[in-house]
Amino acid sequence: MKSKIFGVSLGPGDPELITIKALKALQEADIIYCPGTPAKSRARDILQALPLDINRVQLFQVPMSKDRTEANRVYDNICEEIDRHVNNNLTVAIVAEGDSGFYSSVNYMFDKLAAMHLPVTTIAGVPAFIAAGALSGLHIVKQEEKLVVLPGITTNGELHELLSTNHVVVIMKLSQCTGEIHRFMRDNPRHEYHYYENVGTPEELHLTAYNGIIERNYPYFSLMIIRPGKQLA
Ligand code: SAH
Repeated sequence: MKSKIFGVSLGPGDPELITIKALKALQEADIIYCPGTPAKSRARDILQALPLDINRVQLFQVPMSKDRTEANRVYDNICEEIDRHVNNNLTVAIVAEGDSGFYSSVNYMFDKLAAMHLPVTTIAGVPAFIAAGALSGLHIVKQEEKLVVLPGITTNGELHELLSTNHVVVIMKLSQCTGEIHRFMRDNPRHEYHYYENVGTPEELHLTAYNGIIERNYPYFSLMIIRPGKQLA
């Protein structure tokens, strides 16, 4: 079997943050499956800026609802299609924004393909929070500090516990916990808050001013890195 299936990580937005390995896989692919709609696709925006044949890109739209039944139906159909492509000796890429193994729903497809005896070769990429740290020249974790990544679900108590025990906290999917974050910031102004939006795109934004961050409504493509502030004497 010459044909292959690649899970290709695109990085968080800046097309130059894709790896050479990922770019080669995309250039070799006969079909590139890409999440999004014609009107809106972060992954397609990245692909468009790369030296590859954009006509090979096939967009698919995944319903965002918490009930994954519809989304899984979309994925199941694509997996059936991929099966046919592989039987026709075609090479397929499935792209994901950031790193494909980091909070990425395409893994549902990777698992299903593996169960169909169609193994996926995944290619590592730069996750958004790493690009965010670099954007602001942040030493994300230092010395004995520990790192915790939260998927937009948290409480005042959890954040308090983590930050008072030498953890640096990355919060993804901020739009899901805006109220909690605002409340926590109000109660804990001494921590170091780093806020990022649309990293690597023309709309990129980085805020460190407490007031700017606490007043903001967080969009989908936003994240925060909170570093523990100095203990009060
Ligand atoms: N696989 C991705 C994460 C996907 S989950 C990765 O490796 O980074 C989606 C969440 O990632 C968003 O809600 C947001 O918190 C974060 N994110 C992804 N891209 C981003 C970007 N360009 N700027 C800021 N946050 C981003």
